[in-house]
Amino acid sequence: MGRFLVLVIVVVLAVWLIRRALSGSASRGKQPSPPPQGDGELVTCAHCGVHLPRSEARPSGEALYCSEEHARLGPGEPK
Ligand SMILES: [Zn+2]
Repeated sequence: MGRFLVLVIVVVLAVWLIRRALSGSASRGKQPSPPPQGDGELVTCAHCGVHLPRSEARPSGEALYCSEEHARLGPGEPK
């Protein structure tokens, strides 16, 4: 009976450790709140390089611009 009890404890312990390891590795990536969309995040104007909040940026193609003017002019040469 003693051996059986030890076996049960070992199995329970092993299952617990495996489940803990699996859940730990699965949630280690991005458990905290997802990155904020919009407010707070700064983006760079592809034309003049000015930094502005993403919510105020003008997307054009794959690039972001600070104004309609720069969106129209397109990516500028880095100075
Ligand atoms: Zn700009």
